[in-house]
Amino acid sequence: MSIAFIGLGNMGLPMALNLQRAGFDVLGFDLVAAQCEAFSSAGGKLAASANDAAAHADIVITMLPASRHVQSVYLGEAGLIAHVQPGTLLIDCSTIAPQVSREVAAAAQARGLGMIDAPVSGGTGGAQAATLTFMIGGEAADVDRARPLLQAMGKNLFHAGTAGAGQTVKICNNMLVGMLMIGSSEALRLGLANGLDPKVLSDVISKSSGRNWVIDNYNPCPGTMENVPSARGYTGGFSVDLMLKDLGLAVENALGVGAAVPMGALARNLFDLHSKAGHGSLDFASVFDLLAPR
Ligand code: NAD
Repeated sequence: MSIAFIGLGNMGLPMALNLQRAGFDVLGFDLVAAQCEAFSSAGGKLAASANDAAAHADIVITMLPASRHVQSVYLGEAGLIAHVQPGTLLIDCSTIAPQVSREVAAAAQARGLGMIDAPVSGGTGGAQAATLTFMIGGEAADVDRARPLLQAMGKNLFHAGTAGAGQTVKICNNMLVGMLMIGSSEALRLGLANGLDPKVLSDVISKSSGRNWVIDNYNPCPGTMENVPSARGYTGGFSVDLMLKDLGLAVENALGVGAAVPMGALARNLFDLHSKAGHGSLDFASVFDLLAPR
């Protein structure tokens, strides 16, 4: 089966290589020459443009930064939807606004093409290890067609509903994790200010009603846990700027659908402050430092 893979960045490159290793015939493209070189030096085949890559593909996968990139690659006279062969399945794995996912899927449907949104969780480590979680929106038949590919790049596949549902699940989850990171940091800071050992406090929370994923797996307080970003100066992991992007998508979406997300909006503002203070590329657990006593 031939696959066009567009967007060979931090996530797309290892995902495309995993597809190739699984035996799919992958043709890749990225606007940045260095990303193309990284793919070809690992044995990948390159196309000269997104449309060239997709011209004879059975399935097109995109892994692009944000909504506007997805719109520009798929829509309009120069876009993929106008150029791919009938029967081509389109899979967008980028994290973008649910309403943009629905807009692009509707344009695909108007040309008789199937399209699913399949954003991921698991970060670059999950992309390399092929253990990503896919949150999927689209028609069941299209999801079934995509399944063998997604299984070559990930471990967990969840079909959440119709077009845009994958993106909606992703922003709900990430909004919650952003809030949990700030809430857990606050609790740890309060304990520290009272002279508590943060490891003891974390062990107690982890067996009490405040238990959550951050305290169990991603403790932001240095010295409490090994092999997490807080143990290595908040490097690696999931950046403040990517968390800020996802919280922005959640708040924007909430405004559009009339949902109340006051804590999500506050979390977005706090990550924004932290990013503007020059920490955008650090792991999002570094928001623990924003709450340090002044
Ligand atoms: P990235 O910026 O490293 O990669 C995106 C790539 O798309 C870049 O190489 C860029 O040159 C390319 N690109 C942009 N416009 C293009 C176009 N018109 N044609 C071809 N290529 C184009 O970003 P990333 O970290 O790989 O993330 C990709 C998506 O996955 C984002 O939506 C992000 O929010 C999401 N995501 C990232 C992570 C993570 O940990 N990095 C985790 C989960 C989800």
